[in-house]
Amino acid sequence: MIVPFFISHHGCPHHCIFCDQRSITGQCQPLPSPEIILATIASYCATSPGKPVEVAFFGGTFTMLPVVDQQRLLAPLQPLLNSGAVSSVRLSTRPDAITAEQVAFLWDSGVRTVELGVQSLDDQVLTACQRGHCADDVRGAVSILRGAGLSVGLQLMPGLPCSSSGKDLATLHEAIGLAPDFLRIYPGLVLAGTALAALYRSGEFAPLSLEEAVRLCAAMLHRCMKAELPVIRIGLQASDSLAEPGKIIAGPYHPAFRQLVESELCYYLLLQLCTGVDAGTKCIVRCAPSRVSDVAGQHRTNLKRLAATGIVPDRIDADPTLLPTEIVLRTSSTERYGNLLTDLDFNDEGKPYV
Ligand code: SF4
Repeated sequence: MIVPFFISHHGCPHHCIFCDQRSITGQCQPLPSPEIILATIASYCATSPGKPVEVAFFGGTFTMLPVVDQQRLLAPLQPLLNSGAVSSVRLSTRPDAITAEQVAFLWDSGVRTVELGVQSLDDQVLTACQRGHCADDVRGAVSILRGAGLSVGLQLMPGLPCSSSGKDLATLHEAIGLAPDFLRIYPGLVLAGTALAALYRSGEFAPLSLEEAVRLCAAMLHRCMKAELPVIRIGLQASDSLAEPGKIIAGPYHPAFRQLVESELCYYLLLQLCTGVDAGTKCIVRCAPSRVSDVAGQHRTNLKRLAATGIVPDRIDADPTLLPTEIVLRTSSTERYGNLLTDLDFNDEGKPYV
């Protein structure tokens, strides 16, 4: 169980052109006091007693907070860490805000996971976004964190200014090579009040469309699946703040973005399985129970897209003997087996070979 605290924009002296921390976190409040921290943990524990508890400080740039503030946030957790009531702490920060000395302090304070806002490993993209750090800072930070034994998460943001599908996939490729423990992928959005919004309005920047972002993220997710790298989130989490009228000016936001991405992968495999099957052939699709909605697609989109090829499956059966990566297409004469991991591939621009 994660007990989250949002420290939106606290500690961050930068102004990345896409950043509106208040929109993302839904709040812009003072740092939580020790009393608030303890009360919040207690209330989470009361709702789910016995679950292992991890405390998370998201948003902002934790390691750029004044040391006294870092200590004030972590100090109330120490007795809980010692007693085992809290198992570990995680936080997010910038790649250029990591030093061996800071990491030693974090480790001694019970921090076991650090998420780095990487966004891109292309220096042109980082400069265009006014990130204030370069790709080498990411490489250095990951090396320090891993050397100290911490788990490392990387946050990537495809679809930024000066980027392209090829650059975003190259970033992913290098990110995988850094051997993080997990990724989050947030396609770039144009949020109100950001410098990116001004670029968008002046016509100097166009975000990915929803369809483009889904296709690119499907290729990215597929590469991570093959590398056995967990992607713990794709797309921003829906929040009241993001839902405010006018908050998202443009870009590929969808409250169930990840499902669109997973469905896209399933569609490519279905398409491959249907190749060579005569139009009008009756067939049945089987997949793992957890995959039925992904295979059908939201509002049965995948089945409607397949219909354009002349193949209209009679139904989708849940088959508990199949893995979530497996899909079977059965006709009266054949049974075709496909696996997302072994039967799909993408080019360097993220286009599927189907
Ligand atoms: S480093 Fe993070 S918090 Fe700071 S401006 Fe950039 S995106 Fe926002």
